[in-house]
Amino acid sequence: MTSIAANLQAVRERIATACRAAGRQEGSVSLLAVSKTWPAASVRDAAAAGQTAFGENYVQEALGKITALEGLGLEWHFIGPLQSNKTRAVAENFDWVHSVDRLKIAERLAAQRPPQLPPLNLCLQVNVSGEDSKSGCAPGEAPALAAAIGRLPGVTLKGLMAIPEPSDDVALQRRRFATLRRLLDAVNAAQGTDLDTLSMGMSDDLEAAIMEGATIVRVGTAIFGQRQYQK
Ligand SMILES: *Cc1c(COP(=O)(O)O)cnc(C)c1O
Repeated sequence: MTSIAANLQAVRERIATACRAAGRQEGSVSLLAVSKTWPAASVRDAAAAGQTAFGENYVQEALGKITALEGLGLEWHFIGPLQSNKTRAVAENFDWVHSVDRLKIAERLAAQRPPQLPPLNLCLQVNVSGEDSKSGCAPGEAPALAAAIGRLPGVTLKGLMAIPEPSDDVALQRRRFATLRRLLDAVNAAQGTDLDTLSMGMSDDLEAAIMEGATIVRVGTAIFGQRQYQK
């Protein structure tokens, strides 16, 4: 077994344990393997161990891996900051975007999604940490933004995503994640929708996220190891 396969198994066990602790079904949380900075060979190892969904932050880097691994049936999620000039490549090559935080980006993705592909799945990224975090819309903007995105063709709004500030304080982690969960409830109540995706929780805080209702956890380091470089 490769270390990636062993790490994946350990992460799956963490998820299962957290689901039991939270009184949730094991299958209610899906694992997104965050492969940024790791080569296609690492993704291939994870795929051989049964992992199908991968998260990437950098468009150029991701496109190389997507091309190299075509035919493996992998699902690609864009989770990094997204600039207008990169939306076309993302709309054409990814299955999900978790990091939509303004209408202009969603409109471009919608217009640029090739009509022969299924709708691009989107999450609205919300800043639940106040001034400690730069990415994401303000919580108060989320209901109106979600409503506007929900009207766009070519994309399907699935729910909300957040990256709270790193903290060892589990109570604080849970408060941030609970903020996102309540916001999703508020968005659904305001629109009469049933958006069901909460993309929250990473290597160091996935248990707290699962306690508060995460449906997708985005895990890099615990699967692939410590990243050797930051872009
Ligand atoms: C890098 C990254 C992750 C994974 O973080 P780890 O701590 O390595 O698990 C998750 N989400 C986003 C948005 C990231 O950029």
